[in-house]
Amino acid sequence: MQFEGIKEKTLVIVKPDAIQRGLLGQITSRFEQKGLKLIGTRMLRLESVILREHYAHIADKPFYPGVEEFMMSAPAVVQCWEGLDVVNTVRKITGITKAREAEAGSIRGDFAMSVACNVIHASDSVETAKSEVARFFKDGDLYEYDKTDYMHVYIEEERG
Ligand code: ADP
Repeated sequence: MQFEGIKEKTLVIVKPDAIQRGLLGQITSRFEQKGLKLIGTRMLRLESVILREHYAHIADKPFYPGVEEFMMSAPAVVQCWEGLDVVNTVRKITGITKAREAEAGSIRGDFAMSVACNVIHASDSVETAKSEVARFFKDGDLYEYDKTDYMHVYIEEERG
């Protein structure tokens, strides 16, 4: 797998339960505080076709219809974050699927109780992240800019 350095990207979906509960700001803050760079974001109402593609790995599970209904119940916010090892870093900050058992300090550990309503989605590998980012963002929807605090977030060697 190609090493992408601080240009590695991942997809986060702030799910409808988080939007309903007014957690968008606090969730976004967790990633900002960590030092990650937001390069794209938009609000959308998810639809069955895109969800079936996004959740292909669970589409045959008996609970899938419920997942689809939940994910379409209110708008969601998609975000593309960039940073060094960002996929693993964001998964760690996210916490495990069954939120009530997620580690305290993680987003799911701090904000959720359910295996289904678990406030965010985060890509689980660099390969998956590539296709997930492309699914939700066209090239023109992602922004390149110099993040002025990077000299305090990374050492020179990490910045590449
Ligand atoms: P993750 O989101 O942690 O990567 P999965 O890819 O296994 O987890 O599942 C996708 C999503 O499907 C979960 O985040 C959750 O919203 C829902 N889900 C997973 N397992 C269950 C379940 N047993 N019952 C209901 N919903 C589930």
